[in-house]
Parts: sequence; structure tokens; C-alpha cells
Amino acid sequence: MTDPAITENTTLKGIAVSPGIIIGRARLVDRSKQRIIYQYLLNGKEVKKEVKRFKEALKLTKKQIIDLKNRMSDQIKEHSFILDAHQMIVDDSMVSDATINTILKEKINAEWALKRSIQGIRQLFDEIDYEYIRGRISDVENVAERILRNLAGKEQDSLSKINERVIIVAHDLSPADTSELNTAMVMGFITDVGGKTSHTAIMAQALKIPAVVGLESVTTHVQDGNLLIVDGYKGEIIIGPDDDTIMAYQEKQAYYDRYISSILRLSHLPAETVDGYRVSVKANIEFLEEVVAAKDHGAEGIGLYRTEYLYLRSKKIPSEEELFEDYRQVAEIISPDQVTIRTLDLGGDKFLSAQDLTVEINPSLGLRAIRFCLKEPKIFKSQLRAILRASAYGQIRVMFPMISGLQELLEAKNILHEVMNDLEKENIEYDHSIKVGVMIEVPSAVSVADILAKHVDFFSIGTNDLIQYALAIDRVNEHVAYMYEPYHPAVIRMIMQVVKAAKDSGIEVSLCGEMAGDPFCTALLLGIGIDELSMNSGGIPLLKKLIRSLSKKESEKDLKAILKLSTSDEVKKFISEKTETLVPEIQEKGLYMDRSLYNS
Ligand code: PEP
Ligand code: MG
Repeated sequence: MTDPAITENTTLKGIAVSPGIIIGRARLVDRSKQRIIYQYLLNGKEVKKEVKRFKEALKLTKKQIIDLKNRMSDQIKEHSFILDAHQMIVDDSMVSDATINTILKEKINAEWALKRSIQGIRQLFDEIDYEYIRGRISDVENVAERILRNLAGKEQDSLSKINERVIIVAHDLSPADTSELNTAMVMGFITDVGGKTSHTAIMAQALKIPAVVGLESVTTHVQDGNLLIVDGYKGEIIIGPDDDTIMAYQEKQAYYDRYISSILRLSHLPAETVDGYRVSVKANIEFLEEVVAAKDHGAEGIGLYRTEYLYLRSKKIPSEEELFEDYRQVAEIISPDQVTIRTLDLGGDKFLSAQDLTVEINPSLGLRAIRFCLKEPKIFKSQLRAILRASAYGQIRVMFPMISGLQELLEAKNILHEVMNDLEKENIEYDHSIKVGVMIEVPSAVSVADILAKHVDFFSIGTNDLIQYALAIDRVNEHVAYMYEPYHPAVIRMIMQVVKAAKDSGIEVSLCGEMAGDPFCTALLLGIGIDELSMNSGGIPLLKKLIRSLSKKESEKDLKAILKLSTSDEVKKFISEKTETLVPEIQEKGLYMDRSLYNS
């Protein structure tokens, strides 16, 4: 229901997750229960077909309710009046006739027309004094859900079908939804839910479309077709902006564009501190198509290739051949630099499809990443074969996600060796000295980092998950986003412990969580002694510039002072003051402050 209080030029504040400013029309997309997309029907024939489709869905819904009633056991038969009521709701003119009228009058699809009818009924129910009767709206919604499911059949509307330049407004978008967005059409998106390091946010950065999440109730404030401004720097949206506001934002965008091109020109300079300490700055990618942009932004290799999107995009398990072809091309394009290919990290907030995995109450703590692969060795082996075969064409490293202890690592390495043996028997070429690493993103892996270090060639610290698991903060939940604290003394100490374990064993250590690209964390990570930072390619030019203005010695001295502080806020204040004096434009005009990982 649209909030009547929302008028022209209304600003709502959310969480900035992907930079840029866009001005365009809203396209409401309902992914929360049944997926509803607004569709305009072009001609009378289509409208007639739509009415027929709706009538058939009503007929089927009624039949299902009657069947349900007939199948009721004697035990619960006394409650059959509920289904009688449901049947009456299907027949009620406020549902059936009103929806048909809307389809005919506004030439829109049945789903959206039904949604309108239900909104109207909900408004009437809201005005009823008796709580019991008011609560009966749930019966209406229940019936509407059933009708919607019948309208949809099993097929769900695909977001890839959107063929107008619009801004998506949704309650939530899964990473899979986001991966199928047609970025030639979709200018950006805004959602009710989500956090800074959710995979949906990461996908938006990869697709280079502005996004603001965690707006809590934006879907109830915005109507389809509303003019919107989305400020992906500050995390704000403006509904129905007036001409002056539009002009101000156009100027703001032009300012940012100029600034970004100015730092882009310097992106190929090395990331070397004023006292000669060199840090390797690499890119995180989700698709093969991003490799060229990564190079253009000054990436010195790919520090993290998140391979799951190839699986999510095709909605099935890709063949070994498809994977090989993709990995080979990434390796060849980035050559002579290196690419670190992470094996499948499905689960958590990334699912193949709702039907393919059993529903887990706690997916982040469930059958995710390496756990899934060890349980599905066929899928795992096929990916490892593809990675190994591609390793003959460039500099590839392989990395296992979510390792929680040595046992799991050894199991994964055993399977890798089995695959190597198979390839040898088949006389297929691969890099026999391929480097093997693990992501350190589970607190138990931090504790045993000294043990793990003896069995791998490198570590990559995944702070997105490490912070989530260490501080017990769901990274996709906007309600606890304020507690997502990269400056938490516990997080700093954990990173230090991993770096020490790596250095003691003489292996390399990188950091590839969002923290790597947050300019407010750079001096801290330099002080700790991270060898490599891997981030979304858009962040590379500024990070390199920042590193060139920092001193390793100063950063180490600051780290000593930071370790004496006891809270995230104290650390943040310390770091923020230092950063402001070094690279003033970071805080200027809100260019980075609002996108920083720290939520004040
Ligand atoms: C991380 O957890 O920090 C990481 C880089 O992996 P992902 O964001 O894909 O979970
Ligand atoms: Mg992770």
C-alpha cells in the first residue's frame, strides 16, 4: 500500500552499496512471495488473453479449495467454514470483478491488477474497529497468494525480460536475481532489505549499477512509474524529485565523474608507500566479462574469482567444458598476472534455486561452500578438472572457501590430488606446481591458522564472512547492519593472528573481503602487514592513490596505538582523523564516507 504521506521530493535513507547516481522511473518487482512484475499489455488481443488467464486461475483456485475441503479429515471438518470463506473470497466481486476491470481499463497484467485489488481490500480492513475482523485480511491474502501461484504456474517471471530503462524497486533481490539483470536496461536497484556485504550488494558493484539496500519499507512508498533519484554514494533515494533537485544531482554526478576519471588516469602506478613498501592490489570478479575492466582499473591480477555465478546464471550445473572455457579465458586475458580461482561457494545467501537444496533454517551455518562440495564430489571434481586444465594456459591458483579446520582441508586436497592423477593418466596438461590456498573466514580457521599454514601455499582472509561469524552478525540483515564493525578489536586481533601464522610459515597472505577496498581500513591493514588486497575493481584507483600517500612505518606505529583502544568507535575515530588529513577528498562531499563499511 502506498503511504499517503509520501509526496514530492521525499528522501529515504538506506545503505549505500554500489556507487553512482541515477535518475529514472521505478519498476516494482515483487520477489518476496510470488514474483510479480508490472507489465503493460500493448493491444486488445493481449488484454483479452489476460482476462481469460485470470478467469482460469480463479477457476483452478476454486477447484483446489473445494478439493481441499473434500479431503478434510473428520478431525478437522468442523473448521471447513474457513475454506467456505476462502471460496467466497474467490467469488467476491472485489477480487474477481475489480481485477478484471483493472486489466481491461489499465491494460496491465493479471498479477499486478490482483495486487491492486488486494491493496484496496486491505485499506478497507485497516479501517475496521474489530481486531478479529481486521485480522481476517490474512484469509484474503492467502487466497490471493494461491491465485498468484496458479497464474504463475511453475514458471516465475524472469528479471531478464525487463526491456525498458528502469530502476528496480524490490523487497529483496537474491544474488541469482541480480545476476540475471539486463544492465543495458536496468539502471540500478533499491530494496527494503540487505546489508553492505551481502552478495546482492557485491553483485551490484560487479555489474557497475548503483544500488541502495536496507531502505526497510521503500516498496510501500514507491509506485510503479514514479520518478526516482538513487544516490549510491550516500545511500539515499528521492521519490518524485522536483526540477531543482534533479539539476543538483546531475551536477553531483558530473563532479563524481570528473573525480573518478582523474584518479583513473593514475591507476596504473604501483601501490607503493612513501617509504617504499609495495602492496599488491588485485580485483575480485564474479564474471569473465569483468576481467578487462579490472585491468583498466589498474588491477595487478585477479585476487578472487567467485565462481558460483556461472552456476547461478545458467540455473544448472555447468559442464566441465563450459567451466574450462571460462577459466581458460580469464587466465589468458589476465596473463602474465595471476588469477586465484575460488572453488564453488554455494549456499549462505547464494542458492542454485530454491528447489535444488533442502531449505535450511540457518543457511550461513549450513551446507555451504566446501561442505557442499565435499558432499557432492561429482560437482566438485568437475570444477577442479576445469580449473586444472585451464592452469596450462596461464597463472592460476586454486582456493577453497569456508575451511573450518585441517580435516576439511585435507579432504579437499585429497580430492584435488585424485583429479590430478586422473588428468595425468589421461595425458591432459595442467600446472603440476599449481598453488593451493584457503580462505580464512571462519573463526575456527583463525585459531588453527598456524596448523593450516603448513598445508597450503597462501591464505586469503575473507572478512565479509569472518566478521559475520566472529561478531554473530548476519551480513544480509539490515536490522543488525549497524553492528557490522570491521574496526572491532576482535576482528583486528584475528586478522593479526592470521598474518602472523602466515609469516611464520613463510606463506603469502591476502585479504579479499570488502574491507580490502574500504579506504578507512587501508592504513590499518598496511600496519598489520597484509601482502595483497583484492577488491571490486571500481575501488582500485583510489586505494592505490591512498597507499601511495601512506607510510608503512607510520601505519605500524598507529597500529600499536590502535591496539591500546578498546572499542570499535575509538578505533574508528582514530583512523578517520588520520585518513582525513592524508586524502581529504575521501570524506569530501560524502564520496566515500557513506560507503565505508563502518556504520556509525
Ligand atoms: C568473504 O567472505 O570475505 C569473501 C571474500 O567471500 P564472499 O564475500 O564471496 O563470501
Ligand atoms: Mg566468504
